[in-house]
Amino acid sequence: MQNELDLYDITIVGGGPAGLFAAFYSGMRSMKTKLIEASPYLGGKLNSYPDKMIWDVGGQPPIKAKQLARQLIEQAMTFDPTIVLNQQIQDIKRTREGYYIIQSKTGECHLTRTIVLSIGYGAKSAIKLSVKDADKYENSNLHYTVTDLKQYKGKRVLISGGGDSAVDFANALYGIAHDVMVVHRRNEFKGHERSVETLLTNRIRVKMPFAVKRLEGDQARINAVEIDQVDEKGVFLNRCEHVKVDAVIVNHGMKADIGGIRNWGLKTDDRHILVNDKLETGKEGIYAAGDSAMFGNKIHLLAGAFTDAATAVNHAKSYIKPESAMDIFISSHNPVFDEKNELIEQAAK
Ligand SMILES: Cc1cc2nc3c(=O)[nH]c(=O)nc-3n(C[C@H](O)[C@H](O)[C@H](O)COP(=O)(O)OP(=O)(O)OC[C@H]3O[C@@H](n4cnc5c(N)ncnc54)[C@H](O)[C@@H]3O)c2cc1C
Repeated sequence: MQNELDLYDITIVGGGPAGLFAAFYSGMRSMKTKLIEASPYLGGKLNSYPDKMIWDVGGQPPIKAKQLARQLIEQAMTFDPTIVLNQQIQDIKRTREGYYIIQSKTGECHLTRTIVLSIGYGAKSAIKLSVKDADKYENSNLHYTVTDLKQYKGKRVLISGGGDSAVDFANALYGIAHDVMVVHRRNEFKGHERSVETLLTNRIRVKMPFAVKRLEGDQARINAVEIDQVDEKGVFLNRCEHVKVDAVIVNHGMKADIGGIRNWGLKTDDRHILVNDKLETGKEGIYAAGDSAMFGNKIHLLAGAFTDAATAVNHAKSYIKPESAMDIFISSHNPVFDEKNELIEQAAK
């Protein structure tokens, strides 16, 4: 299989700020670069606070997170790295030649000399409904997100959850679905104020504080849901109601997990990969950067992510080409920029 795979100098796992800056930096260091991101989007946590103003990035006047993400992506593309989206890396194998083959959850393989893990606190996945047989219906009518509103046309939909997603999906389905019921275990919604107001003005049935207790169905589909009132600790109070449904949508939030990477034999604590001041993990050629890394005086902020990216890439470069170690002082005087500088100056005239 190794023969069929294209060999990269460096593979960056995670396309948040640390990974994006690492992709730029490794291009600048003339490394053949691949960046793999688990989600469909680059930008990492910046996507979770798009309209927040960021003040503390060096040389950058206040900027919204979504704009910073756009700029980081643009910068990352400077040296045309290979970008792979929708692949969560989880397994690793060492080849006889000392390269690594890393494998995604969905089975795709990537061959590389070095790896930078810039995975934040791990890939995000939906928190599952912890009710008997819930997993059995995931391929039929129990969903953790809404990809196509039309599939609920004329249907009776029960939404479990009380955050932004639950409230937004309920509003979006109002008028499309035959009937929408929101079941939430607390007495108030966490969703955006205006969306909650819309939800309460729409004729959407709301059951609070209630939770899903049991799913009723045949082998293939859920036909009804038993919901029960809960106390503030989430304990069922045996005031059950029976709701007939055509579909159940569960929005209980997301959890981040480093998943299979925990089995790579790296030193970790509960959220981080432990590294030394060269950002080496202890496994040859594997580095960690950004929020996923932990070492003395580590800064878990954007400023720290960018410094880590440069440090990890420079040491990855030295690992595959030890004589190149001093090139790091060339930085923006690097001849690779000469042609680009000319183009920029011409465009400015
Ligand atoms: C609400 C909020 C506000 C913040 N405000 C500021 C601020 O004002 N200033 C500041 O400096 N910092 C701020 N931060 C912190 C800053 O966002 C983080 O330090 C920064 O995003 C870290 O970047 P990262 O690339 O290390 O990780 P992340 O941004 O978490 O990116 C990690 C990426 O890796 C991907 N990934 C994870 N596992 C895998 C896998 N197995 N395979 C493939 N891809 C994977 C994830 O999907 C994600 O895209 C804020 C954070 C939050 C939550």
